[in-house]
Amino acid sequence: MSINSIRDVLLIEDNPGDARLLQEMFRDHGGAATRLTWIQAMGEAEAHLAANEVDAILLDLGLPDVQGLDAVRRARAAAPLVALVVLTGLDDESAAAAALQEGAGDYLIKGEIETRSLMRSLRYAIERQTMQTVMNAISARAIATLNCIGDAVACTDMSGTVTFLNLAAETMTGWSSRQAQGRPMADVFQILDGTTRMSVLSPVDVGARWLATIHLPSHAVLIRRDGFETAVEDSIAPIRDRNGLETGAVFVLRDATRTRAMTKEITYAAEHDFLTGLPNRIVLNGRISQAIAAGLRNNTKAALLFLDIDGFKHINDSLGHAVGDKLLQSIAKRLVLCVRGSDTISRQGGDEFVVLLGKMNERAGAVTSSKRLLAAVAQPHSIDGHDLHVTASIGISVYPDDGLDAETLIKNADTAMYQAKASGRQGYQFFKPAMNVRAVERQSIEEGLRRAVERGEFVLHYQPKVNLASGAISGMEALLRWQHPVRGLIAPAQFIPVAEDCGLILSIGAWVLREACAQAKTWLDAGLPAAKMAVNVSGIEFQDSGFANRIFRILEESGLPSAALEVELTESVLMKSSEHAVEILGALHERGVTLAIDDFGTGYSSLSYLRRFPIDVLKIDQSFIRQISRDGDDSAIVTAVIGLAKNLKLSVVAEGVETVEELDFLRAQRCDEVQGYYFSQPVPAPVFEQLLRSGIVPAETEMDKKTFAYGD
Ligand code: C2E
Ligand code: MG
Ligand code: MG
Repeated sequence: MSINSIRDVLLIEDNPGDARLLQEMFRDHGGAATRLTWIQAMGEAEAHLAANEVDAILLDLGLPDVQGLDAVRRARAAAPLVALVVLTGLDDESAAAAALQEGAGDYLIKGEIETRSLMRSLRYAIERQTMQTVMNAISARAIATLNCIGDAVACTDMSGTVTFLNLAAETMTGWSSRQAQGRPMADVFQILDGTTRMSVLSPVDVGARWLATIHLPSHAVLIRRDGFETAVEDSIAPIRDRNGLETGAVFVLRDATRTRAMTKEITYAAEHDFLTGLPNRIVLNGRISQAIAAGLRNNTKAALLFLDIDGFKHINDSLGHAVGDKLLQSIAKRLVLCVRGSDTISRQGGDEFVVLLGKMNERAGAVTSSKRLLAAVAQPHSIDGHDLHVTASIGISVYPDDGLDAETLIKNADTAMYQAKASGRQGYQFFKPAMNVRAVERQSIEEGLRRAVERGEFVLHYQPKVNLASGAISGMEALLRWQHPVRGLIAPAQFIPVAEDCGLILSIGAWVLREACAQAKTWLDAGLPAAKMAVNVSGIEFQDSGFANRIFRILEESGLPSAALEVELTESVLMKSSEHAVEILGALHERGVTLAIDDFGTGYSSLSYLRRFPIDVLKIDQSFIRQISRDGDDSAIVTAVIGLAKNLKLSVVAEGVETVEELDFLRAQRCDEVQGYYFSQPVPAPVFEQLLRSGIVPAETEMDKKTFAYGD
C-alpha cells in the first residue's frame, strides 16, 4: 500500500503546536490525496468516527477528556477496524507498549517524528489492521465450525491450560469456554476409567506434550460439573506453530454413548439366542471348557444335560411358528429357574436346550436336576389361549467319564437324549457307549423310512379280538411291520418313534388307514363274518389339523362303513390336546367310528376325561394282564378297570392275553373281549382270512415269538 492510497486520516491532538507540525509533514510529503482531519478531544472524535469513514487514526494519549490507555480503548471501540497509531512523549514508552497490547498498530514518539517515519508507521499500522481483520474473520469461521460439530474440542497451551472450548465441550463438561479459559485441563475435563473409576488426567502432569501422548482407556467416562457421566472416546493432537514447534494441544472427545451401547448390543447378540435370550452354543462351549479346566484342577465332575421337547415340530406345524416361539420362550424361562446361577442353560437351536451343571460330585445331582427340569416343562403352558401340555426328554453325559471335550460331551448327551425319547419320552438317560451304535442305527432307520412308503416295504399284520361271550372273532387290530430289504421284518416300536420325530408318521399313518380299510372292505365283500378293523393312531397324526377329514375321505374311497372302523388312541394323546380332542372325537363319534383308549392304565390315568370324550372301548394294557398269572394281588387293578368300564358303559378289551389263567380270570370278571397270543399273534392278511373263515381254535396257537428280526 502506498501512502497515496491513504485518503482519510483523523488526528486527535489537543496541542495545536504538535498538530501543526504533523499537518506540515503531510503537506511536505505532497500527499494532496490524503485529507487530514484534526480534532482536539475524544468526544468530538467519536462523533466524527460515527459519521465518517477514515483509513487511520493518529491519537495523542494526553487529551483533555481522556488519557492514556483509556484513550486507546475508546478509540478502538469507536473504530474497531481502523488502523491506530498512538503519539507518546519521550519518557512514556511503557504506555506505548501497553497501547500496542490494546490493539494500537504502532506508536510514534513526539519530538522524534519526521515525515518518512510518520508515513511508514501509518502504512504499517494499516497493513497490520487489514491482516488482523482477515485473521478475525478466519478465526470466527473456525469457531463457528467447531461449534457445529458434535465432538467436544478443547485447546490448551503448552502448560496444559485451557484456551478454548467449543459448544459441545461446554455442554459435555458443564463449563463455559470463558470460565474454562486459564484453568488446568484436569479441572475442566474430569475423566475416569469407567472400570477402575481412577482419574485419567492427573492435575499435576497435564502439560500439552504429555496430553498429546495419552490415550484414554476404552471405557473412559467424562464427569460433567453436575456429576452426569458420558461415555467418551478421545483423540489428542499437538498444535504446532509455523516452525513446527509445539504450542499447545487440541483435545477432541467424542460422545461414545451410542457406539458403546451398540458394541454392547452386538456383543450380546453374538453370545445369546435371539428368541429366548439364553446364552448360545458359543458361550456354552466356552463354559464347558472352563468347567473342564476346573475339573482338571480340582478333580471334580461336570454334567451336560441335552434336553429336547417331545413332539415340538408338530406343535410348530399345527399351531404355527408364533405359538411355537412363545412356547420355547416359556420353556426357557422355567428352565432357568430350575438350576443354580453358576450353571449354564443354553439353546442349541430348534427345541434343543443344553444345561451345563458345573462342579458336580455325584451323578445323583444330574438326576435331581433332570427331574426338576422335566417337571417344569410338563406344567401346562398357557399360550395365546391354548393350554399346551408338552414333555421333554433328557440325555446326560458326564465329564470326564463320557468325554474330555465339549464336542464329545454334547454329542454323547444328544445320543443319550434320543435313547430317552425312544424309551418312552418324558424321561432321562445317562449316556452309555453302546448307545452310539444305536444312534447310528437310528440314523439308518430314518434314511430307510423315507424310501419305505414308495417302495411298498410296509405290511399290515392282523391280530384277532375274541368276544368272550360268543367265542367268535369280533374284530382285528391292524399292526404295522416294516419288511426291510436287508434286516427283515422290523417291529413298530423300532421305527414309529423315529417316524414321529421326522414327521414321516403322517404319510405312514395314512397308508396304514388306507390299507386297513381296503382290507376290511375286501373281507366284508367276500362275505366273511363281520369284524371291526382297529387302527392305531399316533399322537402326531391325531393333532394334525386334517386328521378327521383324512379318515372320512379314506372311508369314502374304500367304501367301508364308518361303523366297521375303530380308532385306537393312547391316554396321553388325549390329555395333551384336550380342547382339540373333544372336537375331533365328537366328529368321529358322530359318523359312527368307534373310539378306543389303548394301553389303558399306563398314561395319565385321569379318569375325568373318560366322561368328557365320547369313548366306546377301553383296552387294558398288557402289563396288568401279565400280573394276573404272576401275582394275584395286582389283578385287583384289572378288576377295578373292568368295573369302571361297566359303570361308564364302555366295552373292555384285555390286551396281551397269553395264558389260560389270564383268560379264565378275565372271563370270570366278565371282560368283553380279549386279544393276545393265547389266541393268535398278529398274522399276515391271508392267514388272518383263514382265521376269519374257520374261527379261532385256541389250542392250536403255539406261538413263535421270534417273528421279528428286532424283538420289542
Ligand atoms: P399296541 O397297539 O398296544 O399293540 C399291541 C402290541 O402287543 C402289538 O405289538 C402286539 O403284537 C403285541 N401283542 C399282542 N398280543 C400279545 C401277547 O399276547 N403278548 C405280548 N407280549 N404281546 C402281544 P406290536 O405289533 O409290536 O406293536 C407295538 C405297538 O406299536 C402297538 O401297541 C402300537 O402302539 C404301535 N403300532 C403298531 N402298529 C401301528 C400303526 O399302524 N400305527 C401306529 N401309530 N402305531 C402302531
Ligand atoms: Mg393298539
Ligand atoms: Mg396296546
